[in-house]
Amino acid sequence: MTVAATLAVVLLGAQAALAPLPSDRTTPHEPPVAERGRGQFAFLGRSADGPYRWDPCEPITYQVNLTHAPPGALDDVREAIRRVSEATGIRFVDGGTTTRTADMQLGRAFRGRTSDEPRYYPLLIDWVPHERFVYLADTRRAFAFGMPYRGQGSEARVYVSGLVAIDAGEDLEPGFGNRFSQGVVLMHELGHVMGLDHVASPFEIMWSPDVSDSPLPDPFQTRWGPGDLQGLRLLGAAAGCASP
Ligand SMILES: [Zn+2]
Repeated sequence: MTVAATLAVVLLGAQAALAPLPSDRTTPHEPPVAERGRGQFAFLGRSADGPYRWDPCEPITYQVNLTHAPPGALDDVREAIRRVSEATGIRFVDGGTTTRTADMQLGRAFRGRTSDEPRYYPLLIDWVPHERFVYLADTRRAFAFGMPYRGQGSEARVYVSGLVAIDAGEDLEPGFGNRFSQGVVLMHELGHVMGLDHVASPFEIMWSPDVSDSPLPDPFQTRWGPGDLQGLRLLGAAAGCASP
């Protein structure tokens, strides 16, 4: 697989290159699937049982590191999470704020290290100082990235954690006013966390120039596109519990 398929850097694209995580090495990259008109979606990876996904019968706990976040960031996170929850039917639990960083989430392979920590860290949303972000994303062409993380052993087909990292130096416009505002960028990254890959259609939130002939998407699209919604539904409650 390509690192970018999992890492999935966004909007401005760029094949980011974090060190590949062990559980992702066998993930095949699949081409976008076009269905019903212009709707287009793709999964980051799949097994014989279907796309890799979270167990929709368990809530997803998320935590936010606001240390370097702009004012109002938490409002955008909550609304983006609400939109993902609505589209997937999966319940999210607000795990509060944390000082855990993207570096720690990646460096510890998403796993708690002490007995008072959970087996896998909750999904983390972190604003990363610019220089550190460039290092983590290994590109200057992206301003955020999102990725899910699959479990070990019997949970190897199930996402159990994830990370959204946003470049704190980018000063994204707060809210959901246009495609490149902070809230919509969060939607795109959370789409990756749920298991969606980039598509070519400029009418999807998961659009990326990496895979598209369209140099720019519809800038005023701030809601999920038809393919986004189809993909998120297939990754959500409608697919049933994910048996490990
Ligand atoms: Zn992306």
